Amino acid sequence: MDMDDSPAFAELLPPDRTLMGPGPSDVHPRVLRSMATPLVGYLDDYCVEIMDDIQEGLRYLFQTDNEHTLAVSGTGSAAMETAFGNLVEPDETVLVPDNGYFGARMGEMAERAGGEVHTVSAPWGEPLDPADVEAAFEEHSPTVFGFVHGETSTGVRQTRVSELTEIAHENDAYVVADTVASLGGVEFRTDEWDVDVVYSGSQKCLSAPPGASPITFNDRAVEKVHAREEPARSWYLDLEGVWEYWGEERNYHHTAPVSTLYALREALRLLAEEGLEATWERHEHVAGALTDGVEAMGVGLNTPEEYWLPTLNPVRVPDGVEDGQVIDRLLTEHGIEIVGGLGALDGEIFRVGCMGHSARPANVSQFVSAFGAVLAEEGAEVDLEAGAGATASALARRDR
Ligand SMILES: *Cc1c(COP(=O)(O)O)cnc(C)c1O
Repeated sequence: MDMDDSPAFAELLPPDRTLMGPGPSDVHPRVLRSMATPLVGYLDDYCVEIMDDIQEGLRYLFQTDNEHTLAVSGTGSAAMETAFGNLVEPDETVLVPDNGYFGARMGEMAERAGGEVHTVSAPWGEPLDPADVEAAFEEHSPTVFGFVHGETSTGVRQTRVSELTEIAHENDAYVVADTVASLGGVEFRTDEWDVDVVYSGSQKCLSAPPGASPITFNDRAVEKVHAREEPARSWYLDLEGVWEYWGEERNYHHTAPVSTLYALREALRLLAEEGLEATWERHEHVAGALTDGVEAMGVGLNTPEEYWLPTLNPVRVPDGVEDGQVIDRLLTEHGIEIVGGLGALDGEIFRVGCMGHSARPANVSQFVSAFGAVLAEEGAEVDLEAGAGATASALARRDR
């Protein structure tokens, strides 16, 4: 390496995108602005106040009174690893779903924590059936059970959550919920539904950038962590260490990602201003206008209404159309990001996100028009006028 070879990067100027994929979503301008605010030290009284605000905002978001509620430094997967890495002890039996990509990731993490992992099955594109969960409990006697509330790989909402937690608790097991793509977008009630550990992410339904991920542990789960025979295998994500900073003591554990915490706080402030129930309604209303438009155009959806996940809409790839081509053209010609299917649904569906600041009428109208136009150019039989009309009238319904 020559001293004279100094790199010369171009100025940072990202292309103008509308983010309608499985995350990240569009970030609210107020959240973006918060990140340009000067830093303070991680033990500065001001930083401690910010953290108190975040904890209060997160309890509202989770609908919980849990004391152990905090933001993990890292993305949703770091929160997932915090949940499984602390709760699961070596040789413990863990039950996870096999009906999507993120249930499988739970299994990998539980295994790295030393757990012995079994799965409960449902087809990709369907939620778990409580009867199957009950049967899996009888067969394997797990002590930790994880489920995915909004499975981003399939666009399926796990319904009947209280029934799942009841089965687990009757069997003295702990329940972990992945709400990375659903919390703040669709209804979730941590305390009422009796879920022991719930985690999420910031860049999907919260209109914030990735990097500070909400998590909450109830007292029962915290006691389990306290009773571990050996410490969690990850030093960085060990709840005992992390809580020294987020709890009363406020001792240094690792440097807080200060700017990212500012962003999360501003996102939670926006959420409190809008109101949690109003936020759920907005997602349903706006995503409903999206699915109305797509269906009126003549393109099918891959989930029935019953377990539709407004935050991630699986749209069937019409016959004779190549999904990759449509995805590329939407991005390069219209600046809209969507993605294709994974695993069993690869080539079968488009995954269209409608989360956080991306869940806005303007985004949805823009998406439906552009998507219809690209499909038509790719040779699909679509009724563009009917699609745009259905979206417009669905959007107008609530404004009246
Ligand atoms: C995105 C996502 C994750 C992983 O989060 P990252 O922020 O990508 O680490 C986990 N679970 C679900 C359901 C997700 O959608």
